[in-house]
Amino acid sequence: MTYGPARLLPGENIRITTNPDTEPFWEAARDGRLTACQCGNCGAFRMPPSPYCPECQSTKKEWPTLPGTATVFSFAICNKNPSTGEDYVYVPIVVDLDGAPGARLNANLTGCDADYVKIGMQVHVEWTPIADGWVLPNFRKVPA
Ligand SMILES: [Zn+2]
Repeated sequence: MTYGPARLLPGENIRITTNPDTEPFWEAARDGRLTACQCGNCGAFRMPPSPYCPECQSTKKEWPTLPGTATVFSFAICNKNPSTGEDYVYVPIVVDLDGAPGARLNANLTGCDADYVKIGMQVHVEWTPIADGWVLPNFRKVPA
């Protein structure tokens, strides 16, 4: 079976909520800057952001700028738009973020046929405007 090109979900129907722990991530995204929550005490990364570091219980957080590249850790191939039910091929992925050991992010993949997605594939961030003026990080296959 061939699925065809992996498409991003249309951003206009994607809504997020923020809280004091996650808002810095989304503010950075709106500025086109990929980041992850890093403990300001021991340096451990954690995603999603949480009030306390699971390693040392510190509440200090830092938000370093990451290179924007990542490696596919896991994926799924979907063929229906979850909003409308129409035929629509998209590929939810979990990526390991370069520059943030231990930090993973859920996103969608684009830039290749869904048939060719592989664990270990190199990808780079691409920004998708979504509802309410926010911006969602998605990932595009790095050309071989
Ligand atoms: Zn810590």
